Amino acid sequence: MVSLPLSEDPERPGRMLRLYVCGVTPYEAGHMGHAFTFCAFDVLVRWVERCGVRVRYVQNVTDVDDPLFERARRDGVGWSELARRETEQLVEDMGRLGWRPPDVMPRVSDEIPAILEAVDQLADGGYAYGSDALYFDVSRYPGYGELSHRSRLSMVRKLRDEGLLGAVGREPKRDPLDFPLWRPSAPDEPAWPSRHGPGRPGWHIECSAMSMRYLGPQVDVHGGGRDLVFSHHESERAQSESLTGCVPFARAWMHCGMVRYQGRKMSKSLGNLVRVPEVLERVPPAALRLYLAAHHYRRDWSFRWEALEVAARLAGQLADLIGGPPGPDQPALDLVQEFSSALDDDLDTPRALRALRRAVRRRDRAAAAWMAGILCGDAALS
Ligand SMILES: [Zn+2]
Repeated sequence: MVSLPLSEDPERPGRMLRLYVCGVTPYEAGHMGHAFTFCAFDVLVRWVERCGVRVRYVQNVTDVDDPLFERARRDGVGWSELARRETEQLVEDMGRLGWRPPDVMPRVSDEIPAILEAVDQLADGGYAYGSDALYFDVSRYPGYGELSHRSRLSMVRKLRDEGLLGAVGREPKRDPLDFPLWRPSAPDEPAWPSRHGPGRPGWHIECSAMSMRYLGPQVDVHGGGRDLVFSHHESERAQSESLTGCVPFARAWMHCGMVRYQGRKMSKSLGNLVRVPEVLERVPPAALRLYLAAHHYRRDWSFRWEALEVAARLAGQLADLIGGPPGPDQPALDLVQEFSSALDDDLDTPRALRALRRAVRRRDRAAAAWMAGILCGDAALS
């Protein structure tokens, strides 16, 4: 069984996994980086469920955030229209990739009361101060920086690189590391009333409040892309632990590596995105799942069309084997053990994939179908 922290299931005897994954800011969703992250968590969810553990999986949609508003402004569309369209696209892409959808996909714009409650509690507890916005006071949380293992200087540099070092308005922050909990909105941005003035939440408090609302004060596994470790997860942790006193906020963190393309990180700002529909024009969904599974979730890797073809050949062999004449009902025990110990070892999908290849070579239909059901989910083989 996977060596993950698990909780007692409050609804029935047994254990459960409370999983929170940071989802997308819906303005240019559905590239290989997103697919890699969400398919890795799909394998995790399926594997844990196969081991008889109930999973409660929450993945948010950040539909109140600066990059979304900037894109909406640039393209001359309403932010909520853009968010709705891009969220639909993501759900459609992931549906084609056969994921087991999250139990809850909360949208920030629907969660403002819960977020404001968290903001107010932090303000009442003396963790925040107001100037041109309401800021979290990082000096009240001594462990700030421990999650990302960054020095103060390195945190300041990262914020500067991301354009997040300065204050929201003209008044200075007490400390460059302080971040907004609640801030005034620009005229074309949504605004909600609050005792801190009309405005909108900061990015980090959104996830603290949503994970608390749907999973309680502590999560067993918190996931997301590695680019979120600082400042997003560092700040979420500081807020959540200050709010609830429940330490640690996340019992384990799983951060996914970055996907490169043409020698650089695949990103919206660099414009070198490969999107899911573009890939699925060339290969069946299961081929893409197998290709993603060939990379360990923590590692960075480079997307290559030629390597995708190799995965497509395996998907074809799988389709032939599974659609062919039935064999023995029971998979060979050694294959099951090899596959299981790979996934139990920090979700080593490349090794699990080698077990699947062996099952195909040995024409063990039962083993191949069982393994494909976990590595590819419900994605179509052809
Ligand atoms: Zn988040």
